[in-house]
Amino acid sequence: MEAALKRVRSEFGREHELWIAGAAHRTGDVLESLNPSKPSEVVGLHHRASTDLAVRAVADAHAFFSEWSRTPVERRIELTLRTGALIRERKLEFDAWLVYEAGKTWAEADADVSEAIDFCEYYARQMQRYASPEPPVQMPGERDEMIYLPLGAGVIIPPWNFPLAIMAGMTMAALVTGNTVVIKPSSETPTIARKFVEVLRAAGFPPRAFSLCTGSGSAVGDVLVEHPKTRFVSFTGSRDVGLRINELAARPRRGQIWIKRVVAEMGGKDAIIVDREADQESAAAGVVQSAYGYQGQKCSACSRAIVDEAVYEAFLERLKAKVAKLTVGPADDPASSMGPVISAAARKTILDYIETGKHEGRLVAGGGPVPGDGYFIQPTVIADVDSQARVFQEEIFGPVLAVTKARDFDHALALANDSEYGLTGAVYSNNREKIRKARGEFFVGNLYVNRKCTGAMVGAHPFGGFNMSGTDSKAGGPDYLLQFLQAKSIAEKI
Ligand code: NAP
Repeated sequence: MEAALKRVRSEFGREHELWIAGAAHRTGDVLESLNPSKPSEVVGLHHRASTDLAVRAVADAHAFFSEWSRTPVERRIELTLRTGALIRERKLEFDAWLVYEAGKTWAEADADVSEAIDFCEYYARQMQRYASPEPPVQMPGERDEMIYLPLGAGVIIPPWNFPLAIMAGMTMAALVTGNTVVIKPSSETPTIARKFVEVLRAAGFPPRAFSLCTGSGSAVGDVLVEHPKTRFVSFTGSRDVGLRINELAARPRRGQIWIKRVVAEMGGKDAIIVDREADQESAAAGVVQSAYGYQGQKCSACSRAIVDEAVYEAFLERLKAKVAKLTVGPADDPASSMGPVISAAARKTILDYIETGKHEGRLVAGGGPVPGDGYFIQPTVIADVDSQARVFQEEIFGPVLAVTKARDFDHALALANDSEYGLTGAVYSNNREKIRKARGEFFVGNLYVNRKCTGAMVGAHPFGGFNMSGTDSKAGGPDYLLQFLQAKSIAEKI
């Protein structure tokens, strides 16, 4: 890992071209990607797409669709598996890019890259299943079939917080099912996207099957979403941007002959319930891991701990002791248990929330920035938070945990469900009846029992949330590829 960090660092500051319609492009309008642990360091320089190039990217993806969609499925599966294999070969290099561009600690970076590999392998194998679907009921005198067809040209819009895994997952699902894609990476993590596109090319995907359309969401995002030849948008990011995309995509444009499909996986305000009948030590450990892993910048991060009043004060003491052991520092230093937050703007928003939280509750740990060059923030705990408080209701996306007291388990469940989001949640309890109740009534897409609420594993924990957390597409699950397919029924008289 040390050698990989050194090698990647030697590539800092390089200029990267766009990849659109099968060719490299330079526009001279350059985006600087910075190292959040040390923002004076420029990780990469990226040409931004103009609106003309964005239009061209979709038009070409649409034009090439007829060819790519007819490529035998076995070939598409082979290329998808090869992509996973190539990322695995370059795993430490990708880990290092994530450390430097996304501010992930070594362990968090490794989890992100591993998940990207898992997505390639899992979706390749799921595609084998969709390529030979179960036959429907056979009418006497007919041969009846149902087959799956790809949709067309799709726009892939990932967030920066899983800049490889989520981008790779959405892209590979679209490609293996026979769609062409235009990837619009996050402006915070364009180098990782550029490196991923290199892998797609090395794996043997045709150069026109994918475009990399770097540029700001507000400048090129709308153009890509509104294009009449865009058939679907696969988005993961914040609630507000997801809702905007959904609204824009719903309006048909001149020359458009379909309803655009939008898959939007959005934010979270995830809660962990700590019951009086729980193993308090493992509950405190789970809350700390879920709240501060990757500095709380996960859609699945625990940002609300809802604790039974019988164990409330003792739980806070355990929590405080564990938080005190966390170390915040540069992500490339393996001694850091937490790195920086992603940007100066994110740091400001999070610090503003901490100030709000100090009035809405009792500051128990942290409460401010950590001195240093990077965008470092102390792991922060705000106790005695009311359910109407902003820090209880709004996604902060940083290392800030609100702790709220519940009268009993039913009250805890009601508090956990008092949110417009419904992504992940966890319950710590040894009481089977309470667990049964949570299984039925805790309204989240991903419920965990007696374990942390982050760290969904491809295949085992299909991922996606309810309500304002999104369309519940269940990434890494057996139904996910259906988002990229449409079924055709064929009945032949024999
Ligand atoms: P974001 O601000 O919504 O951005 C997500 C992506 O959308 C970026 O590529 C962004 O590009 C692009 N974008 C912005 N405005 C756009 C527009 N008008 N049209 C098209 N694209 C546009 O979210 P983020 O800060 O990157 O990520 C954090 C959020 O993602 C959190 O809310 C988190 O909970 C959520 N998330 C959800 C899941 C899940 O599975 N549910 C997983 C991970 C993250 P620019 O960077 O150029 O603005």
